[in-house]
Amino acid sequence: MEGVVGQSGHLVGIIGAGPAGLYAAQKLSEAGVYVVLFNQDIKPGGLAEYGIFPTKYKMKEGLRKQFRRILAHPRVEYYGNCRVGEKGALTLDDLHALGLDALICAAGAQGTKSLGLPGEEAVGVVHAKDLVYHYNRLPPFSQQQFAIGKRVAIVGMGNVMIDIAHYLLQLRHDVAEVIVVARRGPAERRYDAKEYTYVEPFVDQTALRHEIERLRPHLAAVGQDTTALIAAMTTATPPARPAGAPGRLVFRFLASPVEILSTPDGRVCGLRVEENRLVLHNETLTARGTGTYMEIPLDSVIFAIGDCVDETIGLPYAHGTFLTKPDASTAEQASAVYQVYDPIRHRVLDHTYVVGWSRQASDGLVGKAKQDAERGVDTVLRELATVPTPTARVVAARRQAVQRLVEERCGYPVTREDITLLEGAEQHMATQAQLADYKFDSNEAMIKAINSRKIARG
Ligand SMILES: Cc1cc2nc3c(=O)[nH]c(=O)nc-3n(C[C@H](O)[C@H](O)[C@H](O)COP(=O)(O)OP(=O)(O)OC[C@H]3O[C@@H](n4cnc5c(N)ncnc54)[C@H](O)[C@@H]3O)c2cc1C
Repeated sequence: MEGVVGQSGHLVGIIGAGPAGLYAAQKLSEAGVYVVLFNQDIKPGGLAEYGIFPTKYKMKEGLRKQFRRILAHPRVEYYGNCRVGEKGALTLDDLHALGLDALICAAGAQGTKSLGLPGEEAVGVVHAKDLVYHYNRLPPFSQQQFAIGKRVAIVGMGNVMIDIAHYLLQLRHDVAEVIVVARRGPAERRYDAKEYTYVEPFVDQTALRHEIERLRPHLAAVGQDTTALIAAMTTATPPARPAGAPGRLVFRFLASPVEILSTPDGRVCGLRVEENRLVLHNETLTARGTGTYMEIPLDSVIFAIGDCVDETIGLPYAHGTFLTKPDASTAEQASAVYQVYDPIRHRVLDHTYVVGWSRQASDGLVGKAKQDAERGVDTVLRELATVPTPTARVVAARRQAVQRLVEERCGYPVTREDITLLEGAEQHMATQAQLADYKFDSNEAMIKAINSRKIARG
């Protein structure tokens, strides 16, 4: 607990140990700051552990290695299984009462964005994040059942859509058709070309050519080249489909969902969409409804339209985001975007910051979350330079107070030593089952594995 006395010696709390929280902890600890991470999940890593596609073993393991190094720093304390907020074991007031020199929210975007369509409560409507957590084995989603039928629409055209399609068509073998429903056209696809290669074997090339051709007048109206788009999106020699994976992937462009249709017993049976045209105004391209509607028969609808932050954490919030200072001057801008803003008192909250997907929901890859966290920490360090440095004794007392609080409130707070034991147990299971990766899929099983290893160690 005494640790190393660094050049700063301040104590900073971070809510969330996903990439943003962990890279923030790295930069702070290297600057001599003590850090305590409060993480809702037992394991660290956030979406790097529970979002990135399960078969990207190399990428996941590379990130895990970096995260292990960050957590091993003597100035970094980790408490998993400790949720912060109105629904958690710890509230923001609890954390403020600990006398932290700064508090950073790096809790990702845990809220669910919805289009508010009639019929969204039907069985078979699924939000992408929940399904992603399910197939990456994050409790409690790992143990939930999702009603996925044979014909599935995915609403949205970004990288998450690709992952969901990849899961449905390659890891499951019971989906016959995935229909990507996109508000705008093929030129506005948001996924990365590299990610597309994962689903390319499943794309019905003939159907895609016809679909883009169908849009020719709309595309021409905004100066887009249909032939070039067909050439960019299709291939005469598609990669071979993996054995035992019979499903196909088709696109439905320029279609906005307006209603989810369901059977009398409340199951999804279709999606009603309004057909759109593209409108170019002041160099901005938008989709406008044409007043023509059509129904697509299907069994499940998965929304992959991005997420919003979890307002129950308790920070000032509006329209899916935590508030940072509006209309900051250019000079203030770099700092202001990371400082949480109280719109009632018209001022930034003292020593309270937001980084990563908690600042910009669903924005970019791990590299971007890292960059954002590091920029946020620059702001924090600038402010800490104006705060008197606590003595080593004061910091040690505060760290002990944190430990007492989490032990009192969090039931079974999981430390970095526990994580090492858990990883050992999972590695053992993977070796025994000859799997590349193994994850316990409930908190109870994880805690049991940690305790068994503790007992075995004596
Ligand atoms: C489906 C999907 C696939 C992706 N694939 C890739 C990829 O292949 N490559 C890539 O580079 N990037 C990928 N990304 C993006 C990448 O995962 C994100 O950029 C990154 O994880 C965002 O980091 P974050 O720390 O801001 O949020 P998160 O990763 O969401 O981490 C948030 C952390 O906060 C914790 N938390 C949440 N609420 C609370 C609370 N109330 N109290 C305490 N703790 C809390 C959570 O337990 C979690 O550990 C993918 C994202 C998704 C959704």
